Amino acid sequence: MISPLRPRIAVSACLLGEAVRYDGTNKAHHVVTEVLAPHVEWVPVCPEVEAGFGVPRPAIEVVSEDPVRVARVADGEDVTEKLRGAASNLASRLNELGADGQIVKARSPSCGLSDAPRALSGGTGPGLYVGVLLGALPDLPIVDEAGLDDPARLRRFLEAVVSRARQRMSCDVSALDWLAQVLGAE
Ligand code: SF4
Repeated sequence: MISPLRPRIAVSACLLGEAVRYDGTNKAHHVVTEVLAPHVEWVPVCPEVEAGFGVPRPAIEVVSEDPVRVARVADGEDVTEKLRGAASNLASRLNELGADGQIVKARSPSCGLSDAPRALSGGTGPGLYVGVLLGALPDLPIVDEAGLDDPARLRRFLEAVVSRARQRMSCDVSALDWLAQVLGAE
């Protein structure tokens, strides 16, 4: 029986299988589409589509830090303010919805958690969307693709998410029972 406890999780839409990437492809991840899908309520988000960049669209990259700025790879046009506005809108929407967590695509200039490449320095850091989200909703549990593939990280993320969902839904279903249903008995 499916539990009445359904955490509300925002997810980079490409990980759900939506063809929203710059090149018109998706990056469906089996943990999202098969393991978690029956047990959660998804809130798909794509900051670059939200910004009106379209699909397909020119690829962008992070070109500077503090504050993060992003520009089109092909012609260097700075698109930071459009993307920052979209990221702020999404953060407000997630706050209003009472999202319990967020799953993000790795290595994206928008959605990367800590591994979005910096074009000039060769380093890495958060993508622009994640940076805005961390500032607006600092307590929101976030995990990226690498975390989905790491059982310990995935479990920690889901523990935080289900704790928030139980409070939001005033639901007395045991967190341990929900986790066992999703991840299997350990
Ligand atoms: S990584 Fe983020 S911005 Fe890029 S396609 Fe996926 S959801 Fe959209």
